[in-house]
Amino acid sequence: MADKFQSIKGFYDVLPDGGPDGRPSTALWHHLEDVARRVMGMYGYRNIRLPLVEQTHLFVRSVGEHTDIVEKEMYAWEDALNGDRIALRPEGTAGCVRAVVEHSLTYNGPQRVWYMGPMFRHENVQKGRQRQFHQVGAEAFGYAGPETEAEQIIMLARLWRELGITDVELQINTIGDAEERHAYRQTLIAYFEQHMDLLDEDARRRLHANPLRILDSKNPRMQAMIEAAPKMFDALGEESRAHYEGFCEHLRAAGIDFVLNTRLVRGLDYYNRSVFEWVTTKLGAQGTIAAGGRYDTLVESLGGKPTPACGFGMGMERVLMLMQDYGVTATDAPHVYLVNAGEAAQRAAPLLAERLRDGGLSVSVHAGGGSFKSQMKKADGSGAAFAVILGDDEVAAGTAAIKPLRGQGEQRTVAQTELLAALAE
Ligand code: ATP
Ligand code: MG
Repeated sequence: MADKFQSIKGFYDVLPDGGPDGRPSTALWHHLEDVARRVMGMYGYRNIRLPLVEQTHLFVRSVGEHTDIVEKEMYAWEDALNGDRIALRPEGTAGCVRAVVEHSLTYNGPQRVWYMGPMFRHENVQKGRQRQFHQVGAEAFGYAGPETEAEQIIMLARLWRELGITDVELQINTIGDAEERHAYRQTLIAYFEQHMDLLDEDARRRLHANPLRILDSKNPRMQAMIEAAPKMFDALGEESRAHYEGFCEHLRAAGIDFVLNTRLVRGLDYYNRSVFEWVTTKLGAQGTIAAGGRYDTLVESLGGKPTPACGFGMGMERVLMLMQDYGVTATDAPHVYLVNAGEAAQRAAPLLAERLRDGGLSVSVHAGGGSFKSQMKKADGSGAAFAVILGDDEVAAGTAAIKPLRGQGEQRTVAQTELLAALAE
């Protein structure tokens, strides 16, 4: 026998019945996708579809050189045919901004867009952390006020409600604008330099390039020192403070609970002012299910006109795990499994199935013959609500038998012309 192939580590199949170790079924994926699509439509977000591959430099420029993503997680290579340096997208915002600038999408005014699809990061594989994972993302371009990021949060709160997820905590922070952050960086660097002995290797490397990221460190040895570090909030000017106050007011007015987490800085460089994460304690270490914030200078730094913007990315695998935790289920079982035994019945079954489909039902037609008994087992296993049974006698009489497969109900025989109506009951 030839060797079997296996999928690459960190890359998973999504199977109709779900995967080993409890991975969700495609039906549950569809449920999440349907609800997400509907909810984002309710807020005027429109779908944009972007390539999975972009110039590597786009991510270096937007996500930032001294970030986990660019330093160690990006699938980037040189195209053997033309030498282009290209990368699988590790996140969605960069490509989205590239498209907005390339097509002047804000020429006629602000735009709200959303997307959904795979992202790629070469990470340590663990629960809730794949190398190909999927995000639903939304971005709003041309809106400067804090009501827009607040609205994105309100939209996510609705999404959680409609998905049956409760108990996720909203953490917010404000990281100021570029100038304020620059001043704060100097303060932070000076502070960390006083504690060089406590800094780990990552932190030392980032000390001058990206000291804010040190605040984000999970190293237990550094926690007390980080906790005592100067706070960004104290470095904010009038406007940034007002923006932050406005952001909080909009959330309060919408009845959305939140906590201020002054260590929340986000792993990507392009953010400014409002940043936020939705966090659950139910998924272990990988507890952030959605994260985002404002990025008012990114459009300009990628060659567009100055355009305020904000957005978020939601991790679909983590949300699906949470849905499973809350007992949310979904099915793609057909309405009807059509059992057919005998030559005439086998010939008639596909036509009868078409009539039922014309009436809006989904029908699995048994194929491959076999006894009534073995076919009824398949019918049961299919998850269908009803078996419709067709033998040569029924064909001759123009009838079919209906057997409810879930719950109570006797088998009964009806005329084929009455079948749709009988099933609709
Ligand atoms: P983390 O701190 O967990 O690495 P991050 O800050 O790198 O997250 P973002 O770039 O903000 O993540 O992506 C937004 C969301 O996408 C995350 O909150 C998470 O739900 C999801 N996500 C990110 N990386 C992965 C991954 N490797 N596998 C599964 N989901 C992921
Ligand atoms: Mg990460």
